[in-house]
Amino acid sequence: MRQVGLFWFTNDLRIDNNAALKQAAQEVDQLICFASVPSAGNILGINQPGQLSPQRLQFLLESLEDLSSNLEPYGQHLIITNHSSVDSIAQLITQYSVSQIYRTSHKGVHESRQWQILAKRYPMIGFHQLDNNHIFDPASLPFEIDDLPDSFSKFRRVAENLEIKLVISPPESLPPSPAQPQQWPVELQQFKRNTKALFEGGETAARRHLHNYFSRGLASTYKQTRNGLDGMDYSTKFSPWLANGCLSPGQIIQVLRKYEQQVESNDSTYWIYFELLWREYFHYYAEKYSARLFAFSGINNRRPKTSFYPQRFKKWCTGSTPYPIVNACMKQLNSTGYMSNRGRQLVASCLVHELGLDWRYGAAYMEQQLIDYDMASNWGNWQYLAGVGSDPRGHRQFNLAKQTETYDPKGLFIDQWQGHNSDSILDNTDAADWPVASQ
Ligand SMILES: Cc1cc2nc3c(=O)[nH]c(=O)nc-3n(C[C@H](O)[C@H](O)[C@H](O)COP(=O)(O)OP(=O)(O)OC[C@H]3O[C@@H](n4cnc5c(N)ncnc54)[C@H](O)[C@@H]3O)c2cc1C
Repeated sequence: MRQVGLFWFTNDLRIDNNAALKQAAQEVDQLICFASVPSAGNILGINQPGQLSPQRLQFLLESLEDLSSNLEPYGQHLIITNHSSVDSIAQLITQYSVSQIYRTSHKGVHESRQWQILAKRYPMIGFHQLDNNHIFDPASLPFEIDDLPDSFSKFRRVAENLEIKLVISPPESLPPSPAQPQQWPVELQQFKRNTKALFEGGETAARRHLHNYFSRGLASTYKQTRNGLDGMDYSTKFSPWLANGCLSPGQIIQVLRKYEQQVESNDSTYWIYFELLWREYFHYYAEKYSARLFAFSGINNRRPKTSFYPQRFKKWCTGSTPYPIVNACMKQLNSTGYMSNRGRQLVASCLVHELGLDWRYGAAYMEQQLIDYDMASNWGNWQYLAGVGSDPRGHRQFNLAKQTETYDPKGLFIDQWQGHNSDSILDNTDAADWPVASQ
């Protein structure tokens, strides 16, 4: 019987090293390549459903466009929707008698639910999820996910002895599509691009960036420069492509190992691997804790003593708090869709400690804004900093004045992003706020 497959691109917007796509190519006679622009940022209701920051949306659209043009030499094309994935897939199943569905496994609560809904609704269809975005083959881990070590250090000691999953080549050919190419949704076509964006989405740009980063020798000094606040060269900047799956950690490690053999192997090259292990850890952590990744009390059922103050939260989002370093970081994020790791630590610490805010609002805001938004890394790091996650110290407050002295001693970063341009008072109270005694 003729098999019609549907490949659902999600966090794997690439053709290279895509095990699920390769399997689909081998198993079906016809293949529909499908992706939807996800809704985001509606957690806790602070944004409208479907709202992504313009920077995040632009990176995603560029990645999808690049994927679409990379599919062309295979005689393929991408069907894109901005409606619900489940409804759109259901329509394609009926229209083309789809018998097999493939995607890269996604451990998000929402994404897993979508998969389960489809699998339940269509029991006659074969559903295949393959792991694509990890350093290690989950089957080779010497522990069950439920027994994931409770701290990163313990995990690292185990992980360092494990074999890295091999990178696989792209499929030689893809089966033809039964569906005609379609125009992209009007809203996406009409989206206005920023021609001065810092990053360009897509597998092609990812490959170029990977090559440039290593050929410029930046990896040899990563450990000394990685705490920078501004600029493209102080850290690898792999994250936006990793988050959208234009690049996989395995591909980075392959080039890293080559660099270590042919150019130099030192503390810095090791540290790039070390940071990628953090990402790996948070991905297993997200799988283990599932919905608890988003819980106020985190994984330890310890409720933080924070609350929600709309005015303070607004000041944090717009970069108008009494803390210039925080303001500069937030303005950088709002303008570029990116913030350094040091910056993220400082603004998160400020939100929780100085502003006394519920950490989930900060995490949700970053989900909306960051072009490298990665569910596991974002919510896992926020839990860590809010003291409700995997940090063995349980509490991590950064001294903002001291951090400014260390990382921005001349105030150049603060000036560049107008961190001083703010209100020095945290809570504004006017006469209308005072209770009026009843006569
Ligand atoms: C509050 C907060 C929120 C964060 N949200 C995200 C997010 O949504 N997406 C995301 O990719 N990273 C997130 N991070 C982790 C880290 O800040 C970014 O991965 C890093 O800044 C990306 O820049 P880079 O690629 O130049 O990193 P590099 O310093 O060059 O590191 C190389 C790679 O290692 C990984 N990595 C580095 N640090 C971490 C870390 N602490 N946790 C997990 N992976 C790490 C990333 O994949 C990164 O691309 C967050 C950190 C904090 C403190």
